[in-house]
Amino acid sequence: MYLFEVLGIHLGYPRCCIAAFDALGGALGNPKGAEAGEHTGFIPCPTCTDKVLSKEIALKDLIVNREHPNVFPIMKHEDLPEDIRNIYE
Ligand SMILES: [Zn+2]
Repeated sequence: MYLFEVLGIHLGYPRCCIAAFDALGGALGNPKGAEAGEHTGFIPCPTCTDKVLSKEIALKDLIVNREHPNVFPIMKHEDLPEDIRNIYE
């Protein structure tokens, strides 16, 4: 599993959005998703992006089973589990 998948699951990003992040190449390949993500670091997939931009769902309500202790969109490096932090360092 790649770091962005491990981190995405930890942060509660939906699987569809994690898969799209990989398939589209992050924000560069998904500028509309980057806009919907409001500089939180979370870039929703095209389907979720449409729901956010049409206000069908709030960005924060896409977050599911978040393991990170800080409320979305706060992500503190020091609060990441050690195994994830070790991949960064
Ligand atoms: Zn999605």
